[in-house]
Amino acid sequence: MSLELSKKALAVKPSSTLEITAKAKEMKNLGKDVIGFGAGEPDFDTPEHICIAAKRAIDDGFTKYTTASGITELKEAIAKKFHNFNHIDYSPEQIVISNGGKHALTNVFTAIINEGDEVIIPAPYWLSYPEIVKLAGGTPVIVRTQKSNSYKITIEELEAAFTEKTKAFILNSPCNPTGMLYDKEEIQQIADFAVEHDIYIISDEIYENLCYGKEEPISIASLNEEIYKRTITVNGLAKSYAMTGWRIGYTGAPLEIAKIMGSVQSHQTSNPNSIAQMAALAAISGDQTCVRVMNAAFDERRKYIYERVCDIDGLSCIEPKGAFYVFVDINELIGKKYNGQEITSAADIARFLIEDYYVAIIPCDDFGFPDHFRLSYAISVNEIDKGMDRIKEFCQTLTE
Ligand code: GLU
Repeated sequence: MSLELSKKALAVKPSSTLEITAKAKEMKNLGKDVIGFGAGEPDFDTPEHICIAAKRAIDDGFTKYTTASGITELKEAIAKKFHNFNHIDYSPEQIVISNGGKHALTNVFTAIINEGDEVIIPAPYWLSYPEIVKLAGGTPVIVRTQKSNSYKITIEELEAAFTEKTKAFILNSPCNPTGMLYDKEEIQQIADFAVEHDIYIISDEIYENLCYGKEEPISIASLNEEIYKRTITVNGLAKSYAMTGWRIGYTGAPLEIAKIMGSVQSHQTSNPNSIAQMAALAAISGDQTCVRVMNAAFDERRKYIYERVCDIDGLSCIEPKGAFYVFVDINELIGKKYNGQEITSAADIARFLIEDYYVAIIPCDDFGFPDHFRLSYAISVNEIDKGMDRIKEFCQTLTE
């Protein structure tokens, strides 16, 4: 057969975060003592009151179709959370509940992109952004940020990337994979830029509950009416409530865009899982102690892993302020040899570590930074300790 397949789909690479994580799990199942610094997935169980709500939904027969864009009670709870936590006023009609954050982003780009529209994405970026933009017919415009600016994009860099085709900019703060947060002044500058050039801001705030120290997350849509009209705020429950498998994401958007996303979703997937929506309702409207408890545990791990990375010759990183990742610079190791094989990128290190040391890390070539790798510290201090010992041992074996 010589029938041609979809060029758009063929251009998509499988998600390496998910692939590496699956490989580490498979090795564990085979009895190997693997330390997984791979996917950003909290190691905690979903809190009990959330699971109870899901079980109750099943017992109550809440197992039929719901409104395609999600149930009103959950939209109301999310609207309240947007008001109280993010200081943004969205009515329930402006909210679309979808099958996880990736699906929310897919809805967003499907709603705003026409073939050839450009979307500015600062690198390092979460690897799915460019792929989702491309699938929607857009063109990702990647801007490499500088370590000296904590991997945050500057207005000058944004200006340089802007063209007549620019449609949107993806803001992700706290950022995956860097763990950096944009402060209020920086967010204000990005907002001014977006208003001046009349582009959309896609603000992915999925790590909003995972901020440590004094830094606070700022929701760009909260700044003023003009930026509110141009922002789509994306979020989900996976990271804050240890609900990765439940697949509930959501967006707050101008009404016109929310309506488009709702109708697209009504054809593509119908409603997100009815039981998971009830679980999400319990999560968002219930006691938030569980979020604080997990946050405190992540903070302890963050401090520990940061110290351990700093202690290894050849590796360096900036202290992360949010999310649960450390972004590690390996430039000093480039050109060194492991068992006679030259290190040319973080991908080489990742391969050697998983094969010989049973440590899974994420090389950041797919995040637009081949000379860095990402460690997720959503694992216990004990495991971090063991994993970092092995990484240190690996680095010590390298020769000139
Ligand atoms: N977002 C998480 C990560 O970056 C989960 C895996 C994925 O969906 O990419 O590790």
